[in-house]
Amino acid sequence: MSVNKIALVAHDACKDLMVQWVGKHINRLRQISVVATGTTGGRIAAAYPELSVTLLKSGPLGGDQQIGAMIAEGALDGLIFFVDPMSPMPHDVDVKALTRLAIVYDLPMACSPSTADAVLDYLSDDQE
Ligand code: PGA
Repeated sequence: MSVNKIALVAHDACKDLMVQWVGKHINRLRQISVVATGTTGGRIAAAYPELSVTLLKSGPLGGDQQIGAMIAEGALDGLIFFVDPMSPMPHDVDVKALTRLAIVYDLPMACSPSTADAVLDYLSDDQE
């Protein structure tokens, strides 16, 4: 399977973690299309100007829903969504909506750096 596009989202307390994760995988991410919610994508673009990142709306303004639409349209190959586990019910409706759609469409999704590594490896391998 060839990976064309992945979406990246990180809640506030997890944005540094996302920037670090992108840095760790910058060579692979350079070869695929990356979309991200507004603030997350802005942080990534500032840290890695050489990486092409398509910025969606900020999550609370509909960016998560834009990603949901891409999942429903089959336009995404993976979703990395770093949810903040230390805040109570963080963006709960958005998390539930994206998790539900990822399950419906069997889209590889990760919510932490180690599982994101695994998803990227999975997507990068030749899957039958
Ligand atoms: P942001 O949105 O990247 O614009 O902060 C992420 C979210 O809150 O879901």
